[in-house]
Amino acid sequence: MLQDTEATRIVVTGEYQLDMQLADVHVHTRRSDGWFDKEHLAEAALAAGLDALVITDHDDVGAGFEIRDYVEQRSLPLSIYPGSEITARHVGHDVHILALGIEDDIAPWQDPAWTIEQVVALGGVPVLAHPYKIGTGYLRAFADLELAAPVSIEVYNASIADIDRFDPRARRRGTNRNDAAAVFHQTHHEQLLGAVGGTDAHFRSVGRGMTAYRGDLLEAIRSRQTAVVSDSRFESARPRDFVTYATGLRSMKHRRASRWGCNAG
Ligand SMILES: [Zn+2]
Ligand SMILES: [Zn+2]
Repeated sequence: MLQDTEATRIVVTGEYQLDMQLADVHVHTRRSDGWFDKEHLAEAALAAGLDALVITDHDDVGAGFEIRDYVEQRSLPLSIYPGSEITARHVGHDVHILALGIEDDIAPWQDPAWTIEQVVALGGVPVLAHPYKIGTGYLRAFADLELAAPVSIEVYNASIADIDRFDPRARRRGTNRNDAAAVFHQTHHEQLLGAVGGTDAHFRSVGRGMTAYRGDLLEAIRSRQTAVVSDSRFESARPRDFVTYATGLRSMKHRRASRWGCNAG
């Protein structure tokens, strides 16, 4: 199994070596709008040859603790970092910022610079998620901002790769948004933290966008010692269990509205 997964890996950016560990830093669960529960997620991560996951449900760090407990109780060889994908707001648009390694929720729909400062204050690593995604991407605004803290960029998002491959409009545009993000990272690397890759798994397998590192994942990103690796196999989105998905989505929106008093997005 591991042999198969190694055979389909492609280095996106950085100096990847086979002794490095691999993390998927962008994973949703059924606590927000994903499909995975803890059992299936741990099983899928190990099957994909991953060493670590960052759990990044929308505006909610809860699932990370649950999955970490599950993995520790069974002594599975998997490091779980709690985190979230925070919905910030910039000139009328939602902007998604991954918060890797935080253990408290951060208020959504705030200014991105403020959001990034909160992530750092909580000991986490802020990442601009899927930076060229229309609507929730953020790279165009990045150059105009004076950020108080350096950020990382998700230079490979497997869901974006799938959309760009299967969506005829994206194919006509002839642009690859992940490649564009990797180029942006290369040309601005002095202002940025180490690059990361993630799957943005809602229904798809985990471990198709990966961050390679040694030692502690968060420290490796802060010290720019990461490489980004992708799995060259593609998948189309296919809800495995639509009822569970719809129920999860409803409860996520309810929880977010009652916690933060609004229900945008
Ligand atoms: Zn997102
Ligand atoms: Zn996401």
